[in-house]
Amino acid sequence: MTPSANLQGQTALVTGASRGIGKAIALALGKAGAEVIVNYSSSSNKAKEVVEEIISSGGNAYSLQANVAEESSVNEMVKTILERSGHLDVLVNNAGITNDGLLMRMKTEDWQSVIDLNLSGVFLCTRAVSRSMIKQKKGRIINITSVVGLMGNAGQANYSAAKAGVIGLTKSTAKEFAIRGITVNAVAPGFITTDMTKDLNSDQILSAIPLGKFGSPEHVAGAVCFLAADPAASYITGQVLQVDGGMVMS
Ligand code: NAP
Repeated sequence: MTPSANLQGQTALVTGASRGIGKAIALALGKAGAEVIVNYSSSSNKAKEVVEEIISSGGNAYSLQANVAEESSVNEMVKTILERSGHLDVLVNNAGITNDGLLMRMKTEDWQSVIDLNLSGVFLCTRAVSRSMIKQKKGRIINITSVVGLMGNAGQANYSAAKAGVIGLTKSTAKEFAIRGITVNAVAPGFITTDMTKDLNSDQILSAIPLGKFGSPEHVAGAVCFLAADPAASYITGQVLQVDGGMVMS
């Protein structure tokens, strides 16, 4: 994919960028000219491969390990980026997990782990970058939510609650940061082919997608690049952009 966004001179942090959607976002932002920080939790080799791919196509990138669900880990990562790159212009809160199960049988730890990473992680990263973005009066924050946060899903009470929470967090942060020149938007993918969805029953899901196919990580990356682009998306804030093949139409 050749993104039309021009992000030359900008630094972008993508959480959970070693695989799947985060990897596609990191590659697309790198192609658009941004220096990309490829965050990962445990897949250091995969994160290095993403960095190498960006560098081999003429871009600039490095990887940083951090557990996005842990305050000290997040703060340390952002401190390192600001010391090494000098500024941080785009934050993509992408890292996420599922721990599915029917609510009646859901263990408290399965509820908590999903809330901690998928919702509190977005809060921690946003707060960590906010001071420097406010100081430079410029920034783009893009949160990856899910259509499940809009419509709910049996077996995903934890995940859909976290993703619905991300939408509320996006709108509140957008209102707080607008006056500071920072936009905050969410992208809500439908069903995208990644490790996260590899075990799902595809026939049942396909029948609910008007465009009749699963999305690719690159489809989501295109929407993120658009929301990061200046001036194209500079007057858009507090919005949820669905990339779902028409699954949810309000
Ligand atoms: P994925 O293929 O499972 O990749 C998850 C990424 O998150 C990996 O890079 C992983 O790093 C990272 N990660 C996991 N725990 C982390 C932690 N504690 N700290 C930092 N990074 C961590 O998932 P995906 O399908 O690309 O999903 C990406 C985002 O899109 C998630 O927020 C997901 O909820 C959302 N989404 C996905 C779909 C879909 O259909 N796939 C639909 C809607 C929304 P390691 O490799 O190091 O573990």
